[in-house]
Amino acid sequence: MAERTVVALGGNAISPAGTAGTASEQTRNIHATMAQVAELVADGHDQLVLTHGNGPQVGNVLIKNELARDVVPPVPLDWCVAQTQATIGFTIADTLGFELARHGIERPVVPVVSRVAVELDDPAWDAPAKPIGPYLDDEAEVARREEAGQHYVRVGERGWRRVVPSPQPRVSLDRPAVELLLDDGAIVVANGGGGIPVVSDAEGPWRGVEAVIDKDLAGALLAQEIGATTFAVLTDVRGVAIDFGTERERWLERVALDELRAHQADGQFTAGSMGPKVEAACRFAEGTGHTAAIASLDEAVAAVGGTAGTQVSP
Ligand code: ADP
Ligand code: MG
Repeated sequence: MAERTVVALGGNAISPAGTAGTASEQTRNIHATMAQVAELVADGHDQLVLTHGNGPQVGNVLIKNELARDVVPPVPLDWCVAQTQATIGFTIADTLGFELARHGIERPVVPVVSRVAVELDDPAWDAPAKPIGPYLDDEAEVARREEAGQHYVRVGERGWRRVVPSPQPRVSLDRPAVELLLDDGAIVVANGGGGIPVVSDAEGPWRGVEAVIDKDLAGALLAQEIGATTFAVLTDVRGVAIDFGTERERWLERVALDELRAHQADGQFTAGSMGPKVEAACRFAEGTGHTAAIASLDEAVAAVGGTAGTQVSP
């Protein structure tokens, strides 16, 4: 079997902080990222799956939901994820196809609208913790939404923010389609935004739920499910640091799984940012016996090649 690679792209691959996030801006950013991804393919990473974040994009759909709720029915969170998989996936297909052609490579790029199964008894349901959508300062509005079943937390001076459960990804339901496409020569975009969270009921089809799945964890899951030999999380810092942001900051280059797990147990990695990346890299290394990388998007080729960023060895 050909070697398979899974690359998880962070938020700055699509809409870096400080940009307004217009469609043309996002397209430009994705295009710049795809120029790097095309280098990866040209470098021989043949069976490639991309996954991507979608936080700002889902946030925008949620704002539209609220502003338009008297005109069109709001769509549930699983629909929001599906919609962002489509727009980001289309833009990746378009720009990566263009960049591959510049390398003389003719390969289909196929975004898969992907569902990821979660469990109804996941402890995350009792402790919604993942902040999504805009900050609100109107307490009456927050109360109205809590009445309607949403959960909010106060985030310092910035106001209130909705939190939703972030359950563990269990099974990538569209994994068979991903593998068919890979074996047929396609580059595949899958589990975008962590995948559309779905649960299984006693009867009936899979059902979408009001939750979001971490994209790094969903990427690591898919990487294990398809037997990938390389998993890379590309973000906006050069890798994993110990004592991050302090005078004692130290960047890890090669780190053994056990050592990284020990730093994790020490509370070195922030929940919601570096925390899930480290967890994802550890799960991949543990589950497959292969090395995982956490690195800067700017060093994509070297990171996937094993010579940049933080390399987590089993
Ligand atoms: P992405 O959008 O790419 O998924 P995040 O913003 O969620 O990325 O996470 C990357 C951020 O994690 C970095 O920009 C950095 O500020 C932060 N971070 C927190 N702890 C660490 C650490 N120990 N080492 C490196 N970066 C860290
Ligand atoms: Mg970010």
